[in-house]
Amino acid sequence: MCENGVVSTIMQEKAKQLYLSDTYLFESTARITEQGKDEKGRSYIVLDQTIFHPQGGEQICDQGIISGDLFMATIVDVKKTPTGEIFHYCELDIPESLSGVEVSCVIDKERRMLASKYHTAGHLVSGVVEEIAPSLKATKCHAFPGEAYVEFPQASPVPEVSTLQNRLSEIQKSGAETKIFDISAEDFEKRFYKLPYDIPGRQTLRALQIGEYPPVPCGGTHIKNVSEIENIIVKVNSRKGSIKVSYSLYS
Ligand SMILES: [Zn+2]
Repeated sequence: MCENGVVSTIMQEKAKQLYLSDTYLFESTARITEQGKDEKGRSYIVLDQTIFHPQGGEQICDQGIISGDLFMATIVDVKKTPTGEIFHYCELDIPESLSGVEVSCVIDKERRMLASKYHTAGHLVSGVVEEIAPSLKATKCHAFPGEAYVEFPQASPVPEVSTLQNRLSEIQKSGAETKIFDISAEDFEKRFYKLPYDIPGRQTLRALQIGEYPPVPCGGTHIKNVSEIENIIVKVNSRKGSIKVSYSLYS
């Protein structure tokens, strides 16, 4: 569904992305493979494997602590470079020559869970909208808490808020499970549907499926069951030939 998400779901990564296989892994060990400063002078660390999800168009990044025998760094921002490296930005400068050092990593559990709930909720909202109005096809999901929305580049039909709310609450009560699997772009389109954007070559995608809804390519972290998400409150806006469904989670 998400054009931005596709880039991050293509498997050509450098560090092992532990967050892709386990949303609930909040601690791990790793080895520093590189350190440096960006053009703004911010110190960053690159690891051989990471539990820190980088910020993308869909999901906020994880924050947490990376520590070794001689240092402790608070990680305030995580970004993936165009070449696929994951930079863990430190709040303060770190000692030099850390390359090769074994470290412990801990992420902020509450932030990870919030990010995951918002992300899963975004895909659930798009699944429900497409179920109610099959001519609408989501092309963008922005799951940042406080500004989350799913966008449909079609002007109509505009879904009724009450219909969406009722269906969302039904699915949540049903306790639909989420499933993540890898699949080639070719097989994905053969088995499910033609994606609304180009997939270069025979790339492998990581797909997310919620209950019986059609799967979508996604590089984010997701909760196991939609019943774990608080109430999803939606708002529908239609303008300039597109429909935007904003949502927030409310307990
Ligand atoms: Zn996604």
